[in-house]
Amino acid sequence: MKRRDFIKYTSGAIATGSLLSKAQSFANINPSQSAEIIVVGAGVMGGWTAFYLQEQGAKVTLIDAYGPGNTRSSSGGETRILRADYGEKLMYTKMVVRAHELWDKWQKEWGRKLMYSTGRLSIGPADYLTYAKEAKRRLKPFGIESEVLDRDEIIHRWPQLGILEDEVALYDAGGAGGSTLLAREACRATTEKFIENGGTFIHTKGLPGKSVNGKLDFIELSDGSKLRADQYIFAGGPWMGSIFPEILKDKLKVFRRDVLFIGTPAGDPRFSYPNLPIWLFRGTRWYGFPDFHGRGLKAAPFPDYNSIDMDTDERLIHHIEIKRARDFVAQRFPALKNQPITGGRVCQLTLSTDEHFIVDTHPDNVNLWFACGGSGHAFKHGPAFGEYMSNRVLGGAQVEEYDKAFKLKGEKF
Ligand SMILES: Cc1cc2nc3c(=O)[nH]c(=O)nc-3n(C[C@H](O)[C@H](O)[C@H](O)COP(=O)(O)OP(=O)(O)OC[C@H]3O[C@@H](n4cnc5c(N)ncnc54)[C@H](O)[C@@H]3O)c2cc1C
Repeated sequence: MKRRDFIKYTSGAIATGSLLSKAQSFANINPSQSAEIIVVGAGVMGGWTAFYLQEQGAKVTLIDAYGPGNTRSSSGGETRILRADYGEKLMYTKMVVRAHELWDKWQKEWGRKLMYSTGRLSIGPADYLTYAKEAKRRLKPFGIESEVLDRDEIIHRWPQLGILEDEVALYDAGGAGGSTLLAREACRATTEKFIENGGTFIHTKGLPGKSVNGKLDFIELSDGSKLRADQYIFAGGPWMGSIFPEILKDKLKVFRRDVLFIGTPAGDPRFSYPNLPIWLFRGTRWYGFPDFHGRGLKAAPFPDYNSIDMDTDERLIHHIEIKRARDFVAQRFPALKNQPITGGRVCQLTLSTDEHFIVDTHPDNVNLWFACGGSGHAFKHGPAFGEYMSNRVLGGAQVEEYDKAFKLKGEKF
């Protein structure tokens, strides 16, 4: 079995001691051997962190309890938006521009399509015009040429949309201004490349073990065995509050989000890529994607804050969301009014108190890092985040602005 296949082999199996010994013999790895850095969590934050640490020459073991881009994780959806418009938070705009460059670089190098230049159309009531004009001005220095569109122009370009009187839009034609990332596919690709490049991936759960002289000594795996390293990075997404309850429970809030797919009419490509951009109706608070690969138009309400148990809750769409989706579609995508809902997904947002990511060391363990607090916007930053995180942990180039914003702060929910 080739290294590339290891991930496939482990993804359907229960992580036990016997699995580890099989993996050792198949993939020629030794999970019990000390690694320099262990990354817990192969979502977008952990996966790219492991990848970039390895790029910088570190010896890295990446573990995940359910596998990269799994259904329960926040990174496990079909698609995610890459957009540069972050209002006044220009540090994220900068990070997106870098991320876009890197997504493009890696998808080309790997020969695997992970990003589509779909464009992004953000529609709002008349008073959105001021924001749209400001956004256009703010994005220009980053090389992004946005357009501000009036109602007639929106209808002219996308007659398949239901546009209300006086609505206006901000349109970014693609690139860093508005692209679509294949989320689950990208998580698998990152981990597969990490393995191909010599990294070790183990399908197992890992929890922090004992601390010795202000350092974490080991993590404990599902089968009770211990894994040691010089540094440990926990990128457990929505699980972080339960892994470190004393530190993170009050600093992170996890909410459930329901996402629906609506079938497109037979032989009608108007709702499929490339005929529709990412769309967002600010007034009615719904956003979504064109149909990709025949999955259906993706539609999600925002914000929708309901609690969720990460390990035990079923991921079935709530019937209230189905009713709401039908009402929304009838108004905004009239031609889809009688189309069936073709599927749904449940995801979760992990909000930090100020919606900045959290990158910091554990207050009592200098070698234990947190990389979490995605706050509903981390996916797009994946490779730029991994690049930043690996520099941070290995003591390379620092970005003071990020270091400060991502600090573990005192505020609690
Ligand atoms: C509906 C929805 C829409 C979104 N839209 C966008 C968007 O358009 N653009 C955007 O940029 N962002 C978006 N986001 C946010 C983005 O998806 C998240 O911020 C991002 O995926 C978080 O990644 P993560 O790596 O922190 O967490 P996760 O993806 O959840 O990864 C954590 C991983 O850790 C593993 N794990 C947890 N505990 C352990 C343990 N003890 N041992 C081993 N493994 C463990 C889990 O199995 C999981 O794979 C959206 C989120 C949702 C829910």
